[in-house]
Amino acid sequence: MRVGFDLDGVLFDFGKSVREYLTSIGREYGFKDDKPEPHTWNFFEYWGMDAKEFVQVCHDGADAGYIFQNNVRPNAVAAVTLVKKAGHKIIVVTDRSFGTTPSVSEEATKKWWKASGFPDYDELHFSPDKTIVPTDIFVEDKLENYDKLMAAGTECWLINRDWNTEGGPDDRQRINDVMDYVYKVHNRWQREQFSELESQLTNISY
Ligand SMILES: [Mg+2]
Repeated sequence: MRVGFDLDGVLFDFGKSVREYLTSIGREYGFKDDKPEPHTWNFFEYWGMDAKEFVQVCHDGADAGYIFQNNVRPNAVAAVTLVKKAGHKIIVVTDRSFGTTPSVSEEATKKWWKASGFPDYDELHFSPDKTIVPTDIFVEDKLENYDKLMAAGTECWLINRDWNTEGGPDDRQRINDVMDYVYKVHNRWQREQFSELESQLTNISY
């Protein structure tokens, strides 16, 4: 199967890498409330930045080699490794476009993937549209991407993060950990195998 993975917020801790860059340049940032970690999509507002300033910080941080480095989320490497070992294709689709040129994000992402010990991906795409290539199943942390993937017919799983649970309970299919995704992938593969067997049976004439 073609198994899709998002990076930021799923396999990579993006907020932490931004914070590391800000610390490296001696920038002070503070939270407007008592939550210690990014907990909204626009978490930068809690760090006292507007969207324009945040984007600039991300461009500079990517150029400086902080953003898109290290900060692999727990179980990320194990989950991708299991999916690959099970014989599926690893399809990465990420909306990364920070740095002076697009090649900054692309090169940093390729280096990060290798340095982190992930098995080789089969495809790596840079796009805000996660339906740009077909996938059988996908893991996302952004509500809008989840909805679009589902509408396009991809079985999507939303990984629970503070920034996608703010609206309260909903009927989206959710998981708590990327390792749970491995089981969803396996589940789908089993269902597909079973359908195949069923269709073979119906083709047999008695
Ligand atoms: Mg994401």
